[in-house]
Formats: sequence, structure tokens, C-alpha cells
Amino acid sequence: MKVFKFGGASLESVERIQQVAAIVQSFSDQQLLIVISAMGKTTNELEKVAHNFYLRKREIAAQLLSNIEQQHLEIAEKLLGNRENPLFDQLQQFFTEAEWTLGEKPVRSYDYYYDQLVSLGELLSTAIVSAYFNQAAINNTWVDVRDVFRTDDTFREANINWEVTQQQVNERILPLFKQTNIVITQGFIGSTDQNESVTLGREGSDYSAAVFANMLNAESQTIWKDVEGLKNADPKLFPNTINIPEISFSEVIEISYYGAQVIHPKTIKPLQNKQIPLYVKSFLNKDLPGTVIREEVDNKHLPPIIVLKKNQVLLTITSRNFDFITEDRISDIYEMFHKLKIKINLMQNAAISFSCCIDHNSEKIELLMKALHNDFKISYHEGLELLTVRYNQDGMLEELSKGRNVLLEQRSPVTIQRVLK
Ligand code: ASP
Ligand code: MG
Repeated sequence: MKVFKFGGASLESVERIQQVAAIVQSFSDQQLLIVISAMGKTTNELEKVAHNFYLRKREIAAQLLSNIEQQHLEIAEKLLGNRENPLFDQLQQFFTEAEWTLGEKPVRSYDYYYDQLVSLGELLSTAIVSAYFNQAAINNTWVDVRDVFRTDDTFREANINWEVTQQQVNERILPLFKQTNIVITQGFIGSTDQNESVTLGREGSDYSAAVFANMLNAESQTIWKDVEGLKNADPKLFPNTINIPEISFSEVIEISYYGAQVIHPKTIKPLQNKQIPLYVKSFLNKDLPGTVIREEVDNKHLPPIIVLKKNQVLLTITSRNFDFITEDRISDIYEMFHKLKIKINLMQNAAISFSCCIDHNSEKIELLMKALHNDFKISYHEGLELLTVRYNQDGMLEELSKGRNVLLEQRSPVTIQRVLK
């Protein structure tokens, strides 16, 4: 069995969905579990619905939702040729449920409502793709992943309950392959034991696919993207990027941790743990070789890898009374970061100070400064970039930092990181 994942870009138009169908068709003699995310930029649009709903701007929210409805109905009608298919009742039901949510008075957390509304994107896209495939004789079964992925109630960043989910995969997913070779389901979403919808974090569909691959003991996972494969830098930011034909799990987990946006960082562990190779391929041309990510790859052949994380803030936290920043103080500071869910991208400590580079989030930074204010003086630089270079070659780092101020630098034999202004 193979696991495929198709992202928003591969579903953003009728033509692209037809292209996806052609890819799947060419594998249809095999068992495939297909994980799909929301079409195009639907998730961003749904975020706006949730936002307006929570601000009690109900009319704007309803209008935005209705735009999303029209877009989906139009695509579905073009794919299926008419509105006779039972799909249209199913879509109607999803929209009615979302409208009910919009009719509620927001009494719970924003994150809760966010998940109830934003999870709609994947339900719509999978229902449409599944109905279209069936009509095109690509026989498949549609599954609501909320009946399979059981999570805790950390809305917007839900954590999977592995034991329960594995059991549901065995009981609810495996038997479906007796009916059809293809099972289609949603990425990015799941459900609590109270049947509340959750999401797993933005861009989380890669991770959903990896969880399935792990639990189904799949032979491989393939992420179909609009790029040829993994490159040594983001082609949107750098010219002359190089394709990487093969790379190890550990290398990819490092670079996605530093901010490379190719693959969701949580994707690697479930695959590595079961030694399942991950292919990254182009849905625009399935015959291009793409990239394979697996355990044993010789890093000697890798080109320099460049990751640039924008919109960074450098905080320097200095103890007011000249206390050393030792274990106990670091542990207090860390506790605050943990409480506020602030991820540290780079850190360094000195005698009485601690510096770290984090993503810009004004709200969280303000809360952090308030909490630490009594004991620490905090200085703050914003609008920075965090540059990471692995396997640096002569002159490359200097070239990339030319004309910039280096506020902090860290080096290991393989990795160099610089905070640039
Ligand atoms: N649709 C979700 C998002 O845009 C999940 C994903 O694309 O992986 O974040
Ligand atoms: Mg998406």
C-alpha cells in the first residue's frame, strides 16, 4: 500500500484536479490511501470567516462563507457536468453545519471556533475529488477522518492519540480496501472524544499522511507538489537552486526545523520510525525523478543547503540584579516560553543574559515581556532574518550576508546560523 498526499495547489483549478486524476489513474492497480488538503487558498479564506465570526461581524463572516460555497459548487459542477450527483447534498450539509456555527454566540475559545469552521475546507475538497474520481471510474471510498484521527482538545495544534487512532485505522480503514483500491480522506483535521473537530496545525496534511503511512505500514509516502522535488534553497527566494535527488530523514528534519517550508516538520518522525521512504514529486510532471527521503543517504553528495526564516525577533533577556543566568533562571525563562507556546529558533547564553531568536508575534512577545519584566531587562530587535547554511562552501556565507548587520552567529562543523538585520 502507498500513501499519497495532494496539497492545495494541486487542487486549485478544474484542470489541476483532472491532472491529479490522471496521476491516480496510473497507479490504480495498487492500493492507495490518498490524503487531501483544502483547495487552493481555502484555509486562509476560512480563517477570515472564523476571525469575523469571533469579532461578532456575523454578516461579513456569512458573506465570506457564501463566497467559498460558490467557488466550490462551481468547481464541482464543472468536474461532474451537472448538479445531479449526491455530492451536492453532501456539500449542502457541510455548509449548513458551518452556518449553524455562525449562528452561535461565541462562548468558547477562539481556537475552538477556528477549528469548527476551518476544518470545512478539507471536507469539501475530499468530497468533491472523491465524487469526481468515482464518476471517472477511479473507484474509491471517501472517509471522514474525524472518525479515525482521535486527538486531545488542544484546538489548532491538536495531538494525536496514537493508541486509539491506530485501533480506528485497523477497524475502519483497512476493511475499506476490500471494497475499493483507493481510499480518500482529509489531511489536517481530526476529532476529540467529544466529537469536536480539531486541526493539527497549518500545513499539517503532510503530517496526517505520515501518520497514516506509519499506522498502515505503507511501503512509501508520496507528497505531490508544484515543484520538482526538494531543492537546496527556496526557489522563491534564491536564484539557481539545485535539485536534491536523495536526502536522509535526519537532514530533512534539521532543515525543516530551521524553517525550510518544503515539508511539515512533524512529518518525518512517523516515517523514520517505521523506515518508510518519503517521495516528493511534481504533480505537473510525474515523470520527473523528484526527491527520495530515507534513512541511509550519504551526506557527502549534498550541495550547500540554505534556509532563510524571515520576520524574526531577537530578544536579549538580562538579569536586573546581576544574578548569573544559570540552570534555575534558564528554567524559569523557559517555563514562560513554554506557557506562551513560543518556539525558540536559536539561543545563546552569557553570564547574565540570554538571547534568542523567535518568530514575530506581537501579542505573545508582549505577554512574555510583562511576565519577565520584574527580574529581567529585555531588549528587542524586530524585522530580522535568520539565515542557516549547512555544508557551507567558500565565500557563500559572506555572499549571503553581504551588506547586512550580523547580530548573532552560531557555528558547528556542519551548520552556521546568523541573525541578520
Ligand atoms: N489546508 C491546510 C492548510 O492550508 C492544511 C495543509 O494544507 O496541509 O494549512
Ligand atoms: Mg493547504
